[in-house]
Amino acid sequence: MSYVVLARKYRPPNFAALVGQEHVVQALANALTQQRLHHAYLFTGTRGVGKTTISRILAKSLNCTGADGQGGITAHPCGVCAACRDIDSGRFIDYVELDAASNRGVDEISQLLDQAVYKPVVGRFKVYMIDEVHMLSNTAFNAMLKTLEEPPEYLKFVLATTDPQKVPPTVLSRCLQFNLRPMAPQTVQEHLVGVLAQEQIAAEPGALRLLARAARGSMRDALSLADQAIAFGAGALTEAGVREMLGAVDRGHVVRMIEALAASDGAALVATVDALRGLGLSAAGALEELAGLLQQMAVSQAVPDALDANDPDTPQAARLAALLAPDETQLVYSIALHGRAELGLAPDEYSGLVMVLLRMLAFRPQGAGAPGRAAAPAVAAPPRRAPVAVTSVAAKAPPTPPATAPAIAAAVAPTPALRIPAGEPPPWMDAPFEDEVVAPAVSTAREPEAVAYAAASAASTAAAPVAFVPTALGARWAELVREMVEAGSISAFARELAMQAQCLALDEQATPIVCGLRVERETLRAGAPCEKLQAALTALLGRAVRLEVQAGVAEDSPARRDAAERARRQAQAEQIIHDDPLVQALMAQYKTARIVPGSIKPH
Ligand SMILES: [Zn+2]
Repeated sequence: MSYVVLARKYRPPNFAALVGQEHVVQALANALTQQRLHHAYLFTGTRGVGKTTISRILAKSLNCTGADGQGGITAHPCGVCAACRDIDSGRFIDYVELDAASNRGVDEISQLLDQAVYKPVVGRFKVYMIDEVHMLSNTAFNAMLKTLEEPPEYLKFVLATTDPQKVPPTVLSRCLQFNLRPMAPQTVQEHLVGVLAQEQIAAEPGALRLLARAARGSMRDALSLADQAIAFGAGALTEAGVREMLGAVDRGHVVRMIEALAASDGAALVATVDALRGLGLSAAGALEELAGLLQQMAVSQAVPDALDANDPDTPQAARLAALLAPDETQLVYSIALHGRAELGLAPDEYSGLVMVLLRMLAFRPQGAGAPGRAAAPAVAAPPRRAPVAVTSVAAKAPPTPPATAPAIAAAVAPTPALRIPAGEPPPWMDAPFEDEVVAPAVSTAREPEAVAYAAASAASTAAAPVAFVPTALGARWAELVREMVEAGSISAFARELAMQAQCLALDEQATPIVCGLRVERETLRAGAPCEKLQAALTALLGRAVRLEVQAGVAEDSPARRDAAERARRQAQAEQIIHDDPLVQALMAQYKTARIVPGSIKPH
């Protein structure tokens, strides 16, 4: 007797045997029982979740004649009548499965639709199952549309796709759509236990857990992997054997990685990679296993009782969960996932893995080590030549423990490059959205950011862009004022007057030189400020100066010129930051990352 692969042998023959898709089964069974049948169904979901299986059960339900040959449409196909048996064995003439991935042209669809005009040969209904329907060409879709709009009453369409986005809306709107879910590892594992018991094959629970995880939600893949594992293990399923077959990395390795990370022990981290390399274990497998463990840790941190108590890995995940703060767990998880995608770009997978692990270390909060502490991680970047003082890219990490602003400021105090302008939230803080009210720094300080990246030296507060109307006199006036400021000949209010004023007249050839200024502030228009400025100007120009100050808006004052220049440099600095490959890489890697508004300061 030939060996029938498990996936085929244990394909569910009826809705009752189908696991993991209860919501779809319930709806279809009700429709069948109440004879409220739709003429087209669309099943969506990833591979191996039961789309074809459900289609076959549906075809049997519609055509089953019952064990006694008297049955009608049913939610419980008998499995023994000719229709049921022929559909199961793929010989039922009125049930057609077409794979659109390999028959995507209009000819194949036309041939199928040509047959649709004929009544069923042996059954009650013709059922056309078109798998991967999104692969059909547009002309093929259009050819199908007419039949979908006015189908003969004996014809049922079952469309299946892994990618419903690519199915035209005209088709979608004519189908009753069901989304099949990927199956939970626990569901897959329970099913494997049942199948292997029937097959009388001994299996270690750890082996089944590994297979269930490796199947990634697909029962078909789980059964196929089980087949392979049975062959690999010569009839027995051991955890070690399955691990070897899958190339899976022993959890001990990734446990050591997390412990090394929690201890900020770079040497131990690198040693774990050396161990993997020595054993020839895959770096991608290590990151996958690491991500799996971090996911369990995150669940344990958020909902301590949510992990499966029967899973022998649970106590360890709970222990490790206490070593990292929740936001850091999230960050490390993200780095692991993205790092795995980058492995192929590395010179070799192990050096790629080292870099991913060191990145996790680099993004650790400075001096971190104690669990649950809220700290603002700051990583000093290499010095850059760009005219930029402080930048930060913040990745918002849910959920975050409470912290206070002083605590955060203290945490980054050792970073000499960073200075926080008074009254402003530090740049790694999550900035409020534009339509939100800006709260005071202390109350916004509840979310320490998971990533802060700071570069270069002191920050100065940047003014908002100010419009000014440049004039020739304004330029000369600004020059004179700069000279007086640099010489220290004006200070306090005299300096303020010079900075805030627009020069309206300045005849440097006349004697005395008449200098006409316009300034808004009344207190600057007379008295000591004017006298001091007049004296300073006289000294500077070497001739008598008479100052005449009038009231009015100063559109071209030295102050406005400075503000406009700051705005220009600010825009330039922001452009440099936005264009910076490292910043772009961080923004691409952390989808929630954004440059905190106002955190970029030009020199
Ligand atoms: Zn039947």
